[in-house]
Amino acid sequence: MKQNEHVPTELEKCAAEPIRPADELVSRFPVTAHPRPANDEQYQESMKSLAFGKVFTDHMAHMRWTHGQGWHDRSIIPFGNIELSPAAAVLHYGQEVFEGIKAYKHTDGSIWTFRPTFNAARINHSSNRMAMPAIDREDFVASLAAYVRADHRWVPSQEGSSLYLRPFVIATEPFLGVHSAHQFDYYVIGSPAGSYFASGVAGISIWVVKGYHRAGPGGTGSAKAGGNYAASLLPQMEAASRGFDQICFLDTYEERYLEELGGMNTFVVMADGSVRTPELSGVILEGGTRSAICRLLRDRGINVTEEKIAIDEIVTGIEKGTVAELFACGTAAVVTPITRLAGEGFDLSLPVGKVMLDTLKALTDIQTGQATDPYGWMYRLA
Ligand SMILES: *Cc1c(COP(=O)(O)O)cnc(C)c1O
Repeated sequence: MKQNEHVPTELEKCAAEPIRPADELVSRFPVTAHPRPANDEQYQESMKSLAFGKVFTDHMAHMRWTHGQGWHDRSIIPFGNIELSPAAAVLHYGQEVFEGIKAYKHTDGSIWTFRPTFNAARINHSSNRMAMPAIDREDFVASLAAYVRADHRWVPSQEGSSLYLRPFVIATEPFLGVHSAHQFDYYVIGSPAGSYFASGVAGISIWVVKGYHRAGPGGTGSAKAGGNYAASLLPQMEAASRGFDQICFLDTYEERYLEELGGMNTFVVMADGSVRTPELSGVILEGGTRSAICRLLRDRGINVTEEKIAIDEIVTGIEKGTVAELFACGTAAVVTPITRLAGEGFDLSLPVGKVMLDTLKALTDIQTGQATDPYGWMYRLA
């Protein structure tokens, strides 16, 4: 294989398959309008604070899967509490998967999202691992488009802001026996989010954890499943009490190779300009942001390698100056510089680097419509 050539992953292959325009899909999710949507005052207040994850829009998308009937009852319904049997399987055995994707309002008022077919492929990859039913990719995209159309006023338009969309599936069969449930419910909820960079690009501090792992070989690390997050909370709390923003996990065998943060992939920029990122080992989550960044960098002639990256090499590289930057990436924060890296026996600082800043700009310019999108990544929702 030629240097810097990339073999597309299964998710990237699925993501490249074309999909019909939203106009042809949204009728799959008929709307039941909220009888008492947020009033002007509540709405203005929410859109001013843009408190990510705290405020939700007027509606949500829903469909149900039952054994025999498959997915049905597609609809957009008022946002509200959901009723579950206390015996619902998700509450006991954690059978759940989710996605995170954003809707952006462009200056002409149109609303777009980034590579929804990647997220559609990924929720099915996650569901497969968790023994849950697949979702038709056009149903997935239709649910996002119909929901965003019902709640278009909630998509903020300030620079760097977006409506964060959270599709998820839960096992709702009321049964305490251990098997894959016979009933699942899919929802999409959304929360208006301000720019992570409102006060400039702020670096994060990372504690490299030993003794705790979010996932292991053969486990559920490559699935976007709530349980992986549950496993990361205790080490995250311990690191926070020592003053660190986030943690980075190492492999389970040797505790030597970088995996990822609790919810973000990582990149290492070498002083010679080349870029490295941990390979998709089956343990880390394949990020859409990671995939897009690899593509953007390679197309600029930057050599990107996906490989095992030993923490001791990174530590000596930072000390010797052969490692220039570290950054993390994911849909929520896009790209975040890591400006402090510490663990047992080391505590190092790094600058906010140029590769990180250029990558952030290139990606957000495409997402916000300020740059043309040569990749066909953007999809019009409304
Ligand atoms: C969602 C997620 C990411 C980032 O994925 P994106 O598609 O880039 O948002 C990385 N790691 C974990 C564990 C995640 O759950």
